[in-house]
Amino acid sequence: MGKYIVALDQGTTSSRAVLFDEQARIVAIKSYEFEQIYPQPGWVEHDPQAILNTQVDSLKEVVKMSGINPADIAAIGITNQRETTLVWDRKTGMPMYNAIVWQCRRTAPIVKQLCEDGYEEHIRKVTGLIPDAYFSGTKLKWILDHQNLHERAKAGELCFGTVDSYLAWNLIKGRPHVTDATNAARTMLFNIHTNEWDDVMLKALDIPREILPKVLDSSGVIGMLDPTILGCEIPVAALAGDQHSALFGQGCFAPGMMKNTYGTGCFLLMNTGDEPATSEHGLVTTIAWRIGGKCTYALEGSVFIGGAAIQWLRDEMHLITRASESEVVANSIPDNGGVYLVPSFTGLGAPYWDMYSRGTIVGLTRGTGQAHIVRAALESIAFQSADLVAAMAQDCGAQPMELRVDGGASANQFLMQFQADILNCRVIRPAVIETTALGAALMAGLAVGVYKDMDEIARIWAKDLELDPQMTERQREQELAGWHKAVKRSMNWVEPEI
Ligand code: ADP
Repeated sequence: MGKYIVALDQGTTSSRAVLFDEQARIVAIKSYEFEQIYPQPGWVEHDPQAILNTQVDSLKEVVKMSGINPADIAAIGITNQRETTLVWDRKTGMPMYNAIVWQCRRTAPIVKQLCEDGYEEHIRKVTGLIPDAYFSGTKLKWILDHQNLHERAKAGELCFGTVDSYLAWNLIKGRPHVTDATNAARTMLFNIHTNEWDDVMLKALDIPREILPKVLDSSGVIGMLDPTILGCEIPVAALAGDQHSALFGQGCFAPGMMKNTYGTGCFLLMNTGDEPATSEHGLVTTIAWRIGGKCTYALEGSVFIGGAAIQWLRDEMHLITRASESEVVANSIPDNGGVYLVPSFTGLGAPYWDMYSRGTIVGLTRGTGQAHIVRAALESIAFQSADLVAAMAQDCGAQPMELRVDGGASANQFLMQFQADILNCRVIRPAVIETTALGAALMAGLAVGVYKDMDEIARIWAKDLELDPQMTERQREQELAGWHKAVKRSMNWVEPEI
């Protein structure tokens, strides 16, 4: 049995490979960026070959850098940017179009039509999602329609897949056409209750079953790595969407446990156990992972502008020169001075869902300075996350015990302390912040027996920082009241296009 596990973390801007030892410590890490293609405003694409090449190169390089024998790798796990959609030729592997990226808005009219045709309720109930161009289903329809591929799709000559599926097909011996339940759950074509593709949605979008991948567990041996890549066969033993993998990598195995990833945006997921929870507050229901044929479910909410607010301070407002400087500036004043910044640059997501809201700064006085704006931007990340936690708590009827955090902006201790204060709950940052990669590695390790069970994995998970709330109840209420008042002021700002 080999001693190492490799995670392939195929992200939106880069492909990385992370080599872990059995104790889930990082031995080596390598990533390569690739081009973002913007053919029209609001459209985003990736070159499938670039995704594949950067991923294979990072795998080869991480093994080379570490100096290990590839035969000592016990398993490989794959985690990926979700929803991004590809179609390729089943015989040759030739992509039929560029990958349409999750951010791409080109299929908004298809979603509008679905809603007008009365599918909204069905989509919510069966797929757990809110009808949106974000998810794969309408992107797949667009490729079939615009490349005139319906006949070939029906004849079984084509494969549809998300990035996990595309990588599995290209990297695994025998070219299996597969995906896992977490990725399937983001297509808007999958019944998360029965774990089957949904005939109603397939019919609504005119998608033939012949093009769909087989849906597997998230943790389980899929096949062997093509030996031409590293010179030996290695079991590929996990597939999972990035946020699901991060929830696993954070060891959030019990219902009620939650993690928040502070990147460009923030992604908050809470484990809800064996039963899918339904949200009354605009959160989506998703499969956290499927292991041994059994699904664990999660509620998910996202903040559109998280760390991006700090980028804005740096690149547009020039109030800081580096993201990390925001911490020093925020700590240079005792409080926010009554200033609130709502970074709804592209509208507000859950629980408000107001696409007409725009960025707003309120509470300015003659004494307001640059530091107040910087501090208010950091606080807005925590406030928005707190709104999601509150929505989840209301949907599940339980208060959070702790919040596990990761992502670039979780390095900011001011932000993390403020998050603990405003949530009135403990914030814990793990030793390994590469939780997305870690989750895929742990799932792969579990599948090949490096780890006996999830209890063993939970014991390996280690924390680095733990912050307890320090704010008084009264102050917290005041802060939250100020924030919610500011959110109200930001809402309904731009006029709907007629
Ligand atoms: P992504 O995966 O979305 O690219 P990362 O997890 O790499 O994001 O985090 C990058 C984001 O975190 C950027 O938006 C950046 O502004 C923010 N960020 C990074 N370091 C800090 C910091 N010390 N304080 C606040 N924000 C930070």
